[in-house]
Amino acid sequence: MSSEPKSDVLIIGAGIVGLSIGIALLQARPSLKIHIIDKESGPGHHASGRNSGVLHAGFYYSPDSLKAKFCREGNLELRKLCAKNKISVLECGKVVVTRSAEEDARLDLLYSRGITNGVDLEIHHANNLERHEPLAKTYNRYLWSPKTAISDPRAVTNAMVRDFEEVGGGISYGAKVRLSESAGEVSVKGFNARYVINSAGAQSDRLARGLGMAKEYAMVPFMGIYRTADSNKLPLTRLVYPVPHPMNPFLGVHFTLTLDGKVKIGPTAIPILGREQYSLTSGWSLSDMGQALLATRALMRGQAHSLGEILKSELPKLKQSSLVRESATLVPRAREIKEWKKKPPGIRSQLVNIQSGRLEQDFIVENYRNSTHILNAVSPGWTSAIPFGRWVASEKVLPNL
Ligand SMILES: Cc1cc2nc3c(=O)[nH]c(=O)nc-3n(C[C@H](O)[C@H](O)[C@H](O)COP(=O)(O)OP(=O)(O)OC[C@H]3O[C@@H](n4cnc5c(N)ncnc54)[C@H](O)[C@@H]3O)c2cc1C
Repeated sequence: MSSEPKSDVLIIGAGIVGLSIGIALLQARPSLKIHIIDKESGPGHHASGRNSGVLHAGFYYSPDSLKAKFCREGNLELRKLCAKNKISVLECGKVVVTRSAEEDARLDLLYSRGITNGVDLEIHHANNLERHEPLAKTYNRYLWSPKTAISDPRAVTNAMVRDFEEVGGGISYGAKVRLSESAGEVSVKGFNARYVINSAGAQSDRLARGLGMAKEYAMVPFMGIYRTADSNKLPLTRLVYPVPHPMNPFLGVHFTLTLDGKVKIGPTAIPILGREQYSLTSGWSLSDMGQALLATRALMRGQAHSLGEILKSELPKLKQSSLVRESATLVPRAREIKEWKKKPPGIRSQLVNIQSGRLEQDFIVENYRNSTHILNAVSPGWTSAIPFGRWVASEKVLPNL
């Protein structure tokens, strides 16, 4: 096998995170030769091109987390990137509504997190909801997030590929790579690079495991199914979300809007057996199944998240009627729409810590010899990507480059 192409840094994964790291590295150190490789035929084929396109404001995340550190700033920087590339941003804002006294009490924690994280956020009594989103309902109070917005994930990824190439980066597709180690050096067969960054999204832990890393984690993928209707049938103007459960890494079934005038409900969070299992009948992988079983056992032992409860509440949502029923607890008129079209699903793969039996909530970055590994780049990884990539590219994370 040839050892071309030769680069200083090889980044695995042409998703938004790999691209951001590549751009940031070249902006800081233009003399570096950086190459990105992806196994698919183009960029953003997985999470970066299949997400909801929500520019999150940054109020959900524990103040000491990397998510909190990067989401608010990422929201601002992604807007700038969209403006520069003439990519539409729908300035819709978001309301977070409640359905019970218990959820209403949890609103305070979310609000105080937002304020601590420096997010522009307001808490209002139900009387005001008419002003922000007349189609939504709430039990008592609600949050108004003016900085939550919507954009186009594929257009953003394509713009970042152009930016990466403009600053001198090289990119190639169609090679599924693995990491190996010999004489204390991490390398990728067929590529000659003195430093490797593993930014392979849902496959990152698998690549890291090839080096004996990530043994404390197992991956469990969740299928997110969405359905859409024309917004002239349900003229929502804001995103409408419930208060997430504190132990759940996902935000619950919610309403988003699309740039082409649709209202979207979902996603489900159905545990599945393959990280790229985009339909229920294909995309299975034996090693993914092994990981999912390991993760399931750990979750059951840890008792922080009840997989039984997750399955009980999620599986019925495969049916339109059940997904609509849940959505209607936020926006009652959702029931009036008879046909909700299914959208291509996305897969949110989530690391489980085998020892604690808990889902890892934050981004994880680990260095090993001449390599860096981005593990658990889950939501809001898309919103956070630009400052997160800059931080990974900084000397704090890559001291030996
Ligand atoms: C359904 C869904 C909805 C979401 N909604 C939002 C949202 O609204 N807002 C938000 O901020 N975030 C959202 N997220 C999260 C966000 O999409 C991710 O955090 C982000 O896209 C992660 O980017 P990435 O580059 O790490 O991964 P990816 O985009 O998955 O990129 C990884 C790349 O690595 C490549 N790769 C993998 N293995 C190999 C290999 N062996 N060799 C070569 N290449 C390889 C893959 O082909 C892929 O292109 C959502 C995620 C999902 C799944």
